[in-house]
Amino acid sequence: MDTLKINYNKEDKSNIIDDKRGKDNNLDNYEDIFDVAIIGGGFAGLSAALLLGRYLRPIIIFDVFKPRSSYIHGYLGYEKSSRNDLIQKAWHDVIQYQSVKRVEDKVKRVEKDVENNLFLITSTKENNMQNQDNSEKRKARAKYLIIATGLQHIKPNIKNFEEYDGNGVWHCPHCDGFEATNKKLVIIASDNKDNKALDYAKVFLGWTKDITLFLQRSNYDNDNAHNNTSQLTDKQRIEARTLDIDIIENDDIVEIVGDPSIKSIKGVITRNNGFYQADVLFYHLKKIIQNEIACQLGCELDEGYLKVNKNQQTSIPNVYAAGDIDTDRHYAILAAASGALAAISIYEELLKDALNRTKIQSHI
Ligand SMILES: Cc1cc2nc3c(=O)[nH]c(=O)nc-3n(C[C@H](O)[C@H](O)[C@H](O)COP(=O)(O)OP(=O)(O)OC[C@H]3O[C@@H](n4cnc5c(N)ncnc54)[C@H](O)[C@@H]3O)c2cc1C
Repeated sequence: MDTLKINYNKEDKSNIIDDKRGKDNNLDNYEDIFDVAIIGGGFAGLSAALLLGRYLRPIIIFDVFKPRSSYIHGYLGYEKSSRNDLIQKAWHDVIQYQSVKRVEDKVKRVEKDVENNLFLITSTKENNMQNQDNSEKRKARAKYLIIATGLQHIKPNIKNFEEYDGNGVWHCPHCDGFEATNKKLVIIASDNKDNKALDYAKVFLGWTKDITLFLQRSNYDNDNAHNNTSQLTDKQRIEARTLDIDIIENDDIVEIVGDPSIKSIKGVITRNNGFYQADVLFYHLKKIIQNEIACQLGCELDEGYLKVNKNQQTSIPNVYAAGDIDTDRHYAILAAASGALAAISIYEELLKDALNRTKIQSHI
């Protein structure tokens, strides 16, 4: 079982790799070959790291730290916890395992070293403006990869949005739809391809019957306001009417009005100077699925999401994915579960490989 021996430096007490990059060497490389490199330190990546740390696997986890001041709902045992506190605690849990190395870098590139069956990972500090040369780059090698880079939600470019984001304004019905209970709800949706806007609005019917859906023509690009791709079909209009969902198709929300002192919204103002009362506002705009690394490696995608099998493995051998990047169900506890599953699957592969080698050696 030699191959499962841990190969991190036991003398090295710190497993947080700080920013002391070699001043003389332009390239700061790691000598060790890690069993697993995890890209992304959100719920999925950290959950994978926790298990792999407990399996004593030498792993490296990259994350660009962007605190988000929101609250998490629906995470068993942590209802209404601060997201930042939860993530901070998770890091604390993970780095108590000495075989885990943490790097505060953005991964820029991953290449396959086919000859040695390894991945070569290049990262830099995200805010580094001089990425053109090699001075701030690090390189690491790993046998397996977990891509857990998540996604970003496009936010509406409307006046006062930031003020009420997370306080009267949300995007995820499963996380925050409860806040709409018996309230006047206004929804901004931009994409009605495959019924997405109306389907999104229908999710809220369990909480409220007072729904107005704006098919915002262009939520973040005023110049394209007439580039309308979001119209409903006649069938959808009939369905909306039957369900009592009001549809606004030829006007856009431009401003939120409310009471900033109590962080509560009162309504929205439209481009045509209309005013619509609202207690809560939800938005459903485009998403940026952060799949660049997966694309570099040629992983198969499905509508931008990484295709994975039941073990979280992508279409590329030894590349796994977990969290929001591989599903349109964006939920923290699901992301954590898929991260754990990826870690278990990889451990089983490493073990199988080690046992096979042991068998081969015993026959020599
Ligand atoms: C405002 C908001 C509120 C939410 N509320 C809830 C809620 O109440 N309940 C709930 O269950 N879910 C909620 N969610 C959804 C939940 O946050 C996600 O489902 C979950 O975070 C997904 O975890 P993840 O690990 O896949 O991705 P993320 O948590 O997004 O983590 C991805 C990480 O990867 C890093 N990263 C990306 N690219 C790179 C790179 N190239 N190199 C290094 N690092 C990289 C990012 O910086 C990030 O830290 C909410 C989401 C948002 C945006």
